[in-house]
Amino acid sequence: MIKLLDLNWQYRSIRQEIDDAIHAVIEESGFIGGKHVREFEQAFASFVGTKHCVGVANGTDALEIAIEALELPPQSEIIVPGNSFIASAEAVTRAGHRVVFCDCNETDYCLEPKDVARRITRRTKAIVAVHLYGHPADMAAIDELAHAHGLQVIEDCAQAHGAEFRGRQVGTMGRIAAFSFYPGKNLGAYGDAGAIVTNDDALALRCRMIGNHGRVAKYNHEFEGRNSRLDGIQAAILAVKLRHLKDWTSRRIEVARYYFQRLEGCSGMVLPKVRPGARHVFHLFVIRTERRDALQGYLEAEGVQTGIHYPISLPKLKAYASHGMADEAMRVNQYDGEVLSLPMGEHLSDREVELVASVILEFFRDRSVE
Ligand SMILES: *Cc1c(COP(=O)(O)O)cnc(C)c1O
Repeated sequence: MIKLLDLNWQYRSIRQEIDDAIHAVIEESGFIGGKHVREFEQAFASFVGTKHCVGVANGTDALEIAIEALELPPQSEIIVPGNSFIASAEAVTRAGHRVVFCDCNETDYCLEPKDVARRITRRTKAIVAVHLYGHPADMAAIDELAHAHGLQVIEDCAQAHGAEFRGRQVGTMGRIAAFSFYPGKNLGAYGDAGAIVTNDDALALRCRMIGNHGRVAKYNHEFEGRNSRLDGIQAAILAVKLRHLKDWTSRRIEVARYYFQRLEGCSGMVLPKVRPGARHVFHLFVIRTERRDALQGYLEAEGVQTGIHYPISLPKLKAYASHGMADEAMRVNQYDGEVLSLPMGEHLSDREVELVASVILEFFRDRSVE
């Protein structure tokens, strides 16, 4: 079986380092806060290139706390791409605002600036720029819109650790950014974990206080916050894995290059595109075909695991039925029936990537004869 993702393979490759890190936290009882959390926060801020990193309990909280910290007027409209994981939209509603979905473009599947522009009203206060599948959103165009209309930009970097747009890393281009360290992400913990990054001192402090009951010291609660903290064990694991991220990302890019070489020109499907000036870190390698379900079944029968991200666009979800956008003629409402995620990650050998590619070529060759 060729897996879409193989976390056990990764653990086996760094077992001793991980085991030592976990034991150190337990020996020191450094479960909440403390040195392991501080060290990881510093290392991650330095990796991204921001002044601050605030560890939180998960990526959804990172988004929600980041939006809350911006202190926008209640029920502001915030534009969110219609193709993402629900958390990108959920955080907006949970923070007391209104989700307005926008379309994606057909190049990189990130939000389409022209469609964002169309949806801006007097009540619009922010844009959630999701760097989907590991490809950076078009931050130049988004920045231009934000400036023209006085909007805040929140980057959702949950799928894009280390991705770049015109030489700048994701997480450094908006006012504030959220990362997820869900186990399957490019940098994943051994449980839930997330982080907020920003260059803004006051925003960073506010995020830290929101996630820690509205306080900085032990019992001086200045307002009501909540409990959303990165724990010591996850921080120690993430610190170990952060040291390997560069190599793992290079391998992802190599695997992608191999898929591109082998599948280029294969008719019946659309390969992902990398925009000029973008560094795509391939959290997912997503192809598009009208025969998606048949191809997925064919790959499955040949022992190749695939995924669908996402099978139902956000506007079509029951959770957003009241928005009435399920039937809008948007790409996001069509692509959910066509996208397929191929196996991707540092666990794949050249031979396995070759096998996946040849099964796909075989599928489309067989079909064209019919
Ligand atoms: C995973 C993900 C999140 C949420 O992160 P969690 O850590 O699972 O809460 C948010 N946005 C996107 C685009 C994601 O892929």
